[in-house]
Amino acid sequence: MGATIEIRFHGRGGQGAVVASELLAQAAFLDGKRPQSFPFFGVERRGAPVTAYTRIDDHPLGIRTSITTPDIVVVLEPSLLRTQPVTDGLKEDGLLLVNTRNPAQELMIPVPARRAVVDANQIAVAHGLGSLTMPIVNTAVLGALVAASGVVSMTALDQAIEEFVPARQAENRAAAEDGYHAVRMVEANMPFTPPVPRAVGPTPQLPEGPMATLSSELIHTAAWRTLRPVVHLEHCTRCNFCWKFCPDDAFQFDEKGYPVVRYEYCKGCGICVVECPPRVIEMVEEV
Ligand code: SF4
Ligand code: SF4
Repeated sequence: MGATIEIRFHGRGGQGAVVASELLAQAAFLDGKRPQSFPFFGVERRGAPVTAYTRIDDHPLGIRTSITTPDIVVVLEPSLLRTQPVTDGLKEDGLLLVNTRNPAQELMIPVPARRAVVDANQIAVAHGLGSLTMPIVNTAVLGALVAASGVVSMTALDQAIEEFVPARQAENRAAAEDGYHAVRMVEANMPFTPPVPRAVGPTPQLPEGPMATLSSELIHTAAWRTLRPVVHLEHCTRCNFCWKFCPDDAFQFDEKGYPVVRYEYCKGCGICVVECPPRVIEMVEEV
């Protein structure tokens, strides 16, 4: 890496990508460095892609442009790997860190950079940060970033969280500590291992004409989902509440009366998780 270390964060609105970039800069300052951080917002809504930048140097920074050739790319939401050019410009000796429960070998990137993963969703949920459907993963990811890169010290990150996170400092510090210990990494020369593909239904033949006239039976609506519900059938009471409360009619039932999620319509809102009386539905990461 060069004298200036450039880090680009990619997340979705609500995950804390902008705060992550600011906390990293604060930690760098506490380490005696000269950092800067700034965000780029696209559509300002929950779930929309958000990019944020942090630069760290030993000397005052004169440059204020966005980061196009980052040393480190941090991805807080793994579906962005498929939908956004998040690894564009990543340096060959750089690092890609992704919040995912999948192995680092499955991260396919165009350059020989190191790859690291951390299941920050699980860590954030365990510490009560955010919700089941939108965990706030930034501090867990920052802990993993410290372990994978050493770009700031863990002492400085811990202090930055204590001083600059406005609420739940103890939980966020614990999440960062867990992220530090949970990171898994592969070196740049490790080969890519293709992930097991997710089963999807056949693409329907759409009739010609205005799309607005079609029903959801023909227009599959799951494209913006980031987490998906999985029903643990062994504890399901077949009460049908999930079907009653699902706003997208994404449940059907098998011949024994157990619910089956129609993922082509599920938008991942998480309402079924909350409404299921025995709490046997879990939101899991897309694969
Ligand atoms: S997550 Fe939302 S859209 Fe998906 S099945 Fe549950 S209630 Fe329906
Ligand atoms: S709400 Fe929960 S218990 Fe009831 S049918 Fe759905 S998954 Fe089963």
